[in-house]
Amino acid sequence: MGSRLLKRAGISPKTCEQLKRHNIESCKALELWKHYSDSRFLTSLPALDKVLRGGIPCGAITEVTGPFGCGKTQLCMMLSVVTTLPKELGGLDRSVIYIDTESAFSAERLVEIAQNRFPDYFSSREKVVQMAGRVHIFREMTCQDVFRRLEKLEEILIATKAGLIILDSVASVVRKEFDTTLPGNLLLRSNVLGEEATTLKYLAHQFNIPVVVTNQITTQIGGQGSGPDTEGDSGIVTAALGNTWAHSVNTRFILQYGDGHQRQLLVAKSPVAPFAVLNYTIQKEGFCMNGNDGEVTLYEGTDPSLQAIRVRTLINLDTP
Ligand code: ATP
Ligand code: MG
Repeated sequence: MGSRLLKRAGISPKTCEQLKRHNIESCKALELWKHYSDSRFLTSLPALDKVLRGGIPCGAITEVTGPFGCGKTQLCMMLSVVTTLPKELGGLDRSVIYIDTESAFSAERLVEIAQNRFPDYFSSREKVVQMAGRVHIFREMTCQDVFRRLEKLEEILIATKAGLIILDSVASVVRKEFDTTLPGNLLLRSNVLGEEATTLKYLAHQFNIPVVVTNQITTQIGGQGSGPDTEGDSGIVTAALGNTWAHSVNTRFILQYGDGHQRQLLVAKSPVAPFAVLNYTIQKEGFCMNGNDGEVTLYEGTDPSLQAIRVRTLINLDTP
């Protein structure tokens, strides 16, 4: 992509130069290191940003996986608000491309998060309207629709000056369309996911922006990450979509239920951060880490595709 297009996409001249150089020739680690702080997206969750050495990486795919209702979409909506904020408030002052495959996006909730998280800035209706006008929603309900949208995204990114791509979720459409218990479907699904990951990585890299995708969970009988997805009562609950997909994502967050109302975010895969656990709750203002800075504990991680995930346990009302 030429520098004129990169500039039209809202990318600074300095970053344009660096990106152009990275595309046509090898570069030194020193250049990437200097570029590093410009290539992180602050989430407005200081404890998480600290673990991630400055925030979610640009130019890469970050996956958020976990059981239903644990807050994946809430996190995506909160990140959308933060992207539109002015730079002096920690935002990117850019718009958002939000691909919604589950009809789960709620504009009312987006506005609620904005007004409660940044009450001073969003005290005027004008600012709220501006913010909501910069979050571009694309409802895509089939694999083919998602794929066509991704193929056209380069032009849309330039036209909207987007600073964040969200795909919520990558799993729902492929899991609906590919029954992996049928012969050949696992390979077909893997090919579709591979192409989606390649396109998303290309866009993330070309525009130097973060891509956030959500994923679902699956029960792996015998704990093999590459086997077909099965929904069952026994076995280990892990991220869906298998090993090949797990390798495609650069950073993986697992959201899971803890004791009582407690919820946990695990940093289960990152090229820069150790395995870490942060406690969170979901409030009117969206995703909140417990305590001022949030408490971070490190844990012994495993293969991220085999990391067991705690789901909500059912309370047996018959038990005294
Ligand atoms: P799925 O896998 O079904 O897409 P998800 O992980 O995306 O699930 P979310 O939709 O992000 O789940 O989260 C829903 C949860 O967020 C609700 O169960 C509730 O706990 C919490 N929540 C939603 N709105 C509010 C609110 N206004 N105030 C507090 N908590 C809220
Ligand atoms: Mg959701």
